[in-house]
Amino acid sequence: MLSGHLSARVPIGVGSLEESIVVSEIGSVDMEKIASLGKRRGFIFQSSEIYGGLGSCWDYGPLGVELKRNVKEAWWKAMVQERDDVVGIDASILMHPRAWVASGHVEQFADPLVECKSCHLRFRADDLKENACPSCGGELTEPRMFNLMFKTFMGPVEDDAAVVYLRPETAQGIFVNFENVLNTSRKKLPFGIAQIGKAFRNEITTGNFIFRSREFEQMELEFFVKPGTDKEWFNYWVQERFNWYVKLGIDEEHLRLRRHGKDELAHYAIECYDIDYLFPMGWSELEGIANRGDFDLKQHARYSGKDLTCFDEETQQHITPYIIEPSAGVDRSVLAFLLDAYHEEIVEKEKRVVLRLHRDLAPIKVAVLPLSRNEKLVPFAREVHAEIRGAFMTQYDDSQSIGRRYRRQDEIGTPFCVTIDFQSLEDRQVTIRDRDSLKQIRVPIGVLKSTLAAKLAGEPLDVLPPGGSKWLGFDS
Ligand code: ATP
Repeated sequence: MLSGHLSARVPIGVGSLEESIVVSEIGSVDMEKIASLGKRRGFIFQSSEIYGGLGSCWDYGPLGVELKRNVKEAWWKAMVQERDDVVGIDASILMHPRAWVASGHVEQFADPLVECKSCHLRFRADDLKENACPSCGGELTEPRMFNLMFKTFMGPVEDDAAVVYLRPETAQGIFVNFENVLNTSRKKLPFGIAQIGKAFRNEITTGNFIFRSREFEQMELEFFVKPGTDKEWFNYWVQERFNWYVKLGIDEEHLRLRRHGKDELAHYAIECYDIDYLFPMGWSELEGIANRGDFDLKQHARYSGKDLTCFDEETQQHITPYIIEPSAGVDRSVLAFLLDAYHEEIVEKEKRVVLRLHRDLAPIKVAVLPLSRNEKLVPFAREVHAEIRGAFMTQYDDSQSIGRRYRRQDEIGTPFCVTIDFQSLEDRQVTIRDRDSLKQIRVPIGVLKSTLAAKLAGEPLDVLPPGGSKWLGFDS
């Protein structure tokens, strides 16, 4: 089970808007707490819940969709936007069925399935510790290989010739577009193609909330390199991807790299590392990084009859690039970010649940809160809200006490609350409250938007804009 860090004691004076953390961390996180917060606050719902739910599929609610978009955006920024050597694509989910023969999925994308002869429940043989049914202890059948690809039919005829698959990974859409991208993007080795999109696997066993589902999203990079430089690039991407999670706030102690043993390597892989996260059920894969050699391009060249080599100026030869693939799950990342951000503390003698999400990931960046529903305060607060809402995802909230509204925002991870009080009507200044330290600064509304933008980009709270002042929670 995960338990968070002790947070620092923060002395914060007295007064109606002031808060103090008097006891630090009081609880630890488990999957039930995250699932219940997810449902209660509108992050994640079970699919088709009104019909009893579809166990292996999940729907992202109003806050979940923002968090998920932010995770994907952070990945795209790091992998495409900030690099000269990577471009993106968005390939279709349905592909020519031959692509899946070439890739090896039709033949090999299967798990060993056993069935209990008494209760007929089915299990993945390699998940079981003993050779008996974990539910009733009954005898199990011999394992048979069960292909995980979902099949459907293309067009109005439901026969074998019309079978197509829902892609079980996004990677193949990249490989089959290698030539298109090479010819149009003027990229030279080493370069990469990135893609984010849905993937489908008819997993034998699902579970652990959104950790393993039958419909999920992947963020994959296929990085094409000259043979001989593959080891170096593989090591580079392992490090780069590990650092991405740390930069976005995951505690390094909750991450580890695990090298695949020879017996575990997929049929195409020369080397593979998993980035594992310490989920409540134990260390489990968050992302895999594989050195796929020249397997994929050679297979697609063979099956399609196309030349998928590129010309190497140095050796004046056509070569088939090697591929380094960092492959991450969007949903598993969302789960890890939620678990790592979840903290329970005592503030003002009451428990507060706070999601210390990195500001780039937080679904709502700023909440605008008038002190009360006073008829003079509300129009002013609405004005302030209108001023900033084009720049950030915001929420306006004037219901209940200010304390409860702060707690609500803490629980969904909102980094900053802007409070409008009676003094604001006179001096046209508002307070900005920091979710983690509970400190507040006071700034003129003319510089509110630029100040929030700077704080959301990482500027420390005590760096003040013109006319700004330290307000609550500072020692001096
Ligand atoms: P596992 O061993 O957990 O089944 P895998 O090794 O088959 O995963 P990959 O094929 O390497 O997974 O897929 C890359 C990433 O896609 C995984 O690291 C994970 O984040 C995500 N992923 C794979 N299968 C699922 C699933 N059923 N539900 C949610 N995410 C998944």
